[in-house]
Amino acid sequence: MTTVKTTCPYCGVGCGVLATPRPDGTVDIAGDPDHPANFGRLCSKGSALGETLSLDGRLLHPEIGDERASWDDALDLVAQRFAATIAEHGPQSVAIYGSGQLLTEDYYVANKLMKGFIGAANIDTNSRLCMASSVAGHKRAFGSDTVPGNYEDLEQADLIVLVGSNLGWCHPVLYQRIVAARDARPDMKIVLVDPRRTVSADIADLHLPISPDGDTALFVGLLAHLADAGRIDRDFIADHTNGFEAADTVASDWPVDRVATVTGLSVDSIVAFYNLFAETEKVVTVYSQGVNQSAAGTDKVNAIINCHLSTGRIGRPGMGPFSVTGQPNAMGGREVGGLANMLASHMDFVPEAIDRVGRFWGSDRVARQPGLKAVDLFAAMARGEIKAVWIMATNPVVSMPDADAVRAALAGCPFVVVSDMNRDTDTMALAHVRLPALGWGEKDGTVTNSERRISRQRPFLAAPGEAKPDWWIVQEVARRMGHGAAFAYDGPAEIFAEHAALSAFENGGTRDFDLSGLADADYESLAPVQWPVRDGSTARMFGDGAFYTADRKARFVPVEPPPRFASSPGTFILNTGRVRDHWHTMTRTGKAARLSAHMAEPFVEIHPTDAVALGIRRASLVRLSNEQGSVLVRALVTDRQSRGQLFVPMHWTLQFAASGRVDVLVPGKTDPVSGQPALKMAKVHAEPARIRLYGFLVSSNKPALTADYWALAPAPDGWRAELGWVEESDDWSALLGTDNPQSVTDNRSGRRAFVHIKDGRLVAALYVSPDPVLVSRQWAVGLLGEADLGAATVLAGRPGGNVVDGGAIVCSCNSVGINTITEAITRHGCATVDAIGARTRAGTNCGSCRAELRGILDQLRVRETVDAV
Ligand code: SF4
Repeated sequence: MTTVKTTCPYCGVGCGVLATPRPDGTVDIAGDPDHPANFGRLCSKGSALGETLSLDGRLLHPEIGDERASWDDALDLVAQRFAATIAEHGPQSVAIYGSGQLLTEDYYVANKLMKGFIGAANIDTNSRLCMASSVAGHKRAFGSDTVPGNYEDLEQADLIVLVGSNLGWCHPVLYQRIVAARDARPDMKIVLVDPRRTVSADIADLHLPISPDGDTALFVGLLAHLADAGRIDRDFIADHTNGFEAADTVASDWPVDRVATVTGLSVDSIVAFYNLFAETEKVVTVYSQGVNQSAAGTDKVNAIINCHLSTGRIGRPGMGPFSVTGQPNAMGGREVGGLANMLASHMDFVPEAIDRVGRFWGSDRVARQPGLKAVDLFAAMARGEIKAVWIMATNPVVSMPDADAVRAALAGCPFVVVSDMNRDTDTMALAHVRLPALGWGEKDGTVTNSERRISRQRPFLAAPGEAKPDWWIVQEVARRMGHGAAFAYDGPAEIFAEHAALSAFENGGTRDFDLSGLADADYESLAPVQWPVRDGSTARMFGDGAFYTADRKARFVPVEPPPRFASSPGTFILNTGRVRDHWHTMTRTGKAARLSAHMAEPFVEIHPTDAVALGIRRASLVRLSNEQGSVLVRALVTDRQSRGQLFVPMHWTLQFAASGRVDVLVPGKTDPVSGQPALKMAKVHAEPARIRLYGFLVSSNKPALTADYWALAPAPDGWRAELGWVEESDDWSALLGTDNPQSVTDNRSGRRAFVHIKDGRLVAALYVSPDPVLVSRQWAVGLLGEADLGAATVLAGRPGGNVVDGGAIVCSCNSVGINTITEAITRHGCATVDAIGARTRAGTNCGSCRAELRGILDQLRVRETVDAV
């Protein structure tokens, strides 16, 4: 068996993975101990990669309409329709919408076709939803889209400020590195700035539950405080920056009490944070979607960078602003120019760059101006201005704001091509042509992580069916459109070499992105390396105080904070984000039973006081709505959520839930500089859903669900589904696979249970109740794998006396539930996360649940203290 070194396809941490295919078709997955991003660690998602590789649901051959087609016919049709549309309506009438899942080589070829040969810049990407504000903020401050530091800085810092970043769930391996560093250096301080008390708060010395979009005021006020306290570095400001006075003038209008009014924070907590920042030299400010996904995202980024520039804390070990990307190759997309407002290779739409790129590509047709950014692109499609679109490796019908409008725009678009690995996505359903692309484990290329580190993604599986690499698909269309001479690559190595050559072309140190040192690199054996690569890898940027502006000085950006965001009476502010064990629209993680065990359905986090006021009970169903649409989700009542605010994850699609696409509620409001949508700031109404019956189903076969509410997830030996009906129902035969199930009814409570057993094995069990079903999910799911089952055991709806119910899963790697963990703490005296792990194995594999274990420990300690009092 050969072990292949590759890279995780999920988040922007970019962990190295060792993949070992076995003769039985399974693949062993382990963290790569030599990869500098993770040194062998993986999170729950990365650890479960081997469970997501089945061909279930894969698109294995091209389709035109719903009919199987040959590659030649499909490619001819795409090329002919794009060419005809351009001929009739001009190049601005076509578009490509890509993804941070694309490899750099795929991205490069797609960008070259659109900007270099079609001659329009209408190629944008789901990275617009992720980090466009960071790009814009970097460019305003540094003159280039440059992440200054690296992951080691997080371990070397004495203060880490996490702003709008739930690393514990969204970038778990970075979180684990910080926890390990803090364990080694207990004096390290961590501040969390986030409206929610996320799991990342469990390692924070100070949590600032800031009001939505209050971050700008917090950092503008910090700049004023640094100046007042004499903590600014006047030499660095004079020698290496411009514009401090203007930024300082704005900031001087933001004393702490005004900051407190806008942020909703106490003066004491703000002062504590300001003093900590002022007095600590080694500070890293880590930020991600909570900063970027805002109508003021770019200003937030610059407010943060201003504080680092004013103190000269940039480009040196253990300090700097640090944007962490969501997608695995968001950085690679930025490098090639995969955003509509960038040309190529970190060059802008300025005459000398357009001329340079045109000469390099051999094209006189290079786009001369930026194209449509994601929200504008789909709005133009809705107006009929985009008449042909190609969507690559992403699912905008779920992930875009105003998702129903995006679906309607695609439904009305005359020609929609989707290339993806999966046949049944909400977006694929609207395609006129479906093109099967390779997936992780099959693809070959490079990705770049959040610290500018380029790593290889290598194949270890054969291409299934007729699936092809994305770069090949684009190249074949380009050739059919008459651009064959410029698209004659024989593989990703050749594309990467051209990409590296373009980065170095007429560069001479004037541009940050430079891979000249990789010109002769052996692509196959390429080791992880941080760009720029001139004489070698570059760990940090700007250590010499030279930036990529005309005078090589960084720029302060005067930032005026927006007023405090106020929701109208009766409405909530809706925040959207991720859960620990799922990735984006679940096309991959939705296949792994153990990843679905942690959070098996869409939910809304709501504060207990708000829940009581609205009559929303724990685990009941909640209707969220506004003028754009509505969703139906489970109530998760928790004081981790601030009052007046709600949180709903963004993962659930029509493939997994009847009504869980939360982005139907989010308006298409964007940051005016970056075009990034404000995905965390929708206004919604919340009300208890009128549900007559709740249900829970376990089934050995995938059920067809038609209930008013349903959420489907895989189980180890079948499927599980949460159900709800607004009217009384008694037609269960389709769910149970029989007209004659065994059943039991409790007339007093109205609870009923039905079971279908065949040859001692469970075919299906259904529990229905006027209230949320209380049956232990883990116990019921476990029944699917048992032999010699008796109906009475299943109908009882709870484990027998000799069966332990572990409770809801906390550690998905080792399937350890909350009951087991609670028992370890309360009965067996486990007082640390390590002690819990030693007793139960929870948290001993990937470590992604260790923050939750710490939270459970803290809660039980608080309860013990209260009981003692
Ligand atoms: S932190 Fe997890 S999801 Fe992110 S790259 Fe590493 S293993 Fe993959």
